[in-house]
Amino acid sequence: MAKSIFIDTTRCTACRGCQVACKQWHDHEAVPTKQTGTHQNPPDLTPNNFKLVRFSEHKIDGHVHWLFFPDQCRHCLQPACKATADMYVEDAIVVDEATGIVVCTEKTKELTKDQCDEIIDSCPYNIPRRNEISGELVKCDMCIDRVQAGLVPMCVKSCCTGAMSFGEREDMLIKAKLRLTEAQAEIERPKSELETKIACDVHKSCTILDEEDLGVIYFLEMPREMYHQYAGREIKPLNRADFLAGLAKPFKNMLG
Ligand code: SF4
Ligand code: SF4
Ligand code: SF4
Repeated sequence: MAKSIFIDTTRCTACRGCQVACKQWHDHEAVPTKQTGTHQNPPDLTPNNFKLVRFSEHKIDGHVHWLFFPDQCRHCLQPACKATADMYVEDAIVVDEATGIVVCTEKTKELTKDQCDEIIDSCPYNIPRRNEISGELVKCDMCIDRVQAGLVPMCVKSCCTGAMSFGEREDMLIKAKLRLTEAQAEIERPKSELETKIACDVHKSCTILDEEDLGVIYFLEMPREMYHQYAGREIKPLNRADFLAGLAKPFKNMLG
């Protein structure tokens, strides 16, 4: 059965426990970093940071609002990264049949830097990173070792606010849809004068991100572009992998 993570960003306090827990589980080294005018640290995903809590700051109706987005691989149901990688080294990226988890394998070392760049570029969420020392392409593996042992991913385990849940994909979708219904009802609820003053409900735009296509399901209460550039799917011009897949389709159909 396909597994999923549900992330309710409205419950995230940006404590970054998940980010640290991910590093610890994967035995990742600390990375030198610098202040860039935001609490987001490091500034981007790296080969040593499969999870990054993104911060964005907005002034709405005179009030400052921080939006938090715990970013990681979405474990796409049709992963573009795999389609691109397969053109060069078959099964450098694999999908685990039992869980749907998308995993970069050691075979990614056989890919050239340019091929890795093409794979990164094909990911609509800008997720994989190349380890320049080992030559491997790496990203969140949904803690497949833990999942196969019947445990929940480390980031989910560490989240103290309940912003993250893990389980069967159908159950996570139900959870996400219930949360959406609840949030929409809250927006429509008549508000007192004080609530109207401090709330920014009028600007809210609750969504579940691309849930039909992803193994990691996000609930947002503000427009996706306010979180970060790749929060929602980036629609890209047709790349080489898509082009070749398109050409192959009629033959595949003929073969059944
Ligand atoms: Fe947010 Fe939970 Fe991660 Fe803390 S552990 S940053 S609350 S998702
Ligand atoms: Fe691949 Fe990107 Fe989808 Fe993750 S989010 S499975 S890296 S295409
Ligand atoms: Fe890291 Fe595992 Fe969470 Fe992925 S699922 S972000 S690998 S802790």
